[in-house]
Amino acid sequence: MTDDCLFCAIVDGSIPSRQVYADESAVAFLDIQPWHRGHTLVVPRRHVASIVDDPTSWEDLRSVVEHVVPLLMDRLGADGMNVLMNAGEVSGQEVMHVHVHLVPRYDDAPGLGNLTGRDTTDLDAVLAQLTA
Ligand code: 5GP
Ligand code: ZN
Repeated sequence: MTDDCLFCAIVDGSIPSRQVYADESAVAFLDIQPWHRGHTLVVPRRHVASIVDDPTSWEDLRSVVEHVVPLLMDRLGADGMNVLMNAGEVSGQEVMHVHVHLVPRYDDAPGLGNLTGRDTTDLDAVLAQLTA
């Protein structure tokens, strides 16, 4: 836990999130401003700033990523997925606690040019679909 870290606060429950899945090393929750329906973030329970700061943090994320990728594909009927990490402000990282973006993609908005469009679909309905 690091004071003033948003994702540490989400991990410890002091800030609420729409949790999709968790294990002993990482937590997956819906991004509050999804690029596409089902956009999920996976964060390690321990505070690490970025994959550059500590490349071994990937090991903390791995088992939750392996669980959530097929969950998103199957439950949401996605046609593909972007799996990405930003590291450092220059890359676009805004929250300095390492995280993987899992962004389900759909045939009606293909390609990297459409990656970061915001989907306003109701987040509670998406969560219900993933956790029912
Ligand atoms: P970054 O730019 O650091 O790679 O991505 C940070 C992500 O965190 C953004 O996609 C943003 O929408 C998401 N985010 C920011 N604040 C919150 C929050 O309070 N709750 C959730 N669930 N996601 C957040
Ligand atoms: Zn943190």
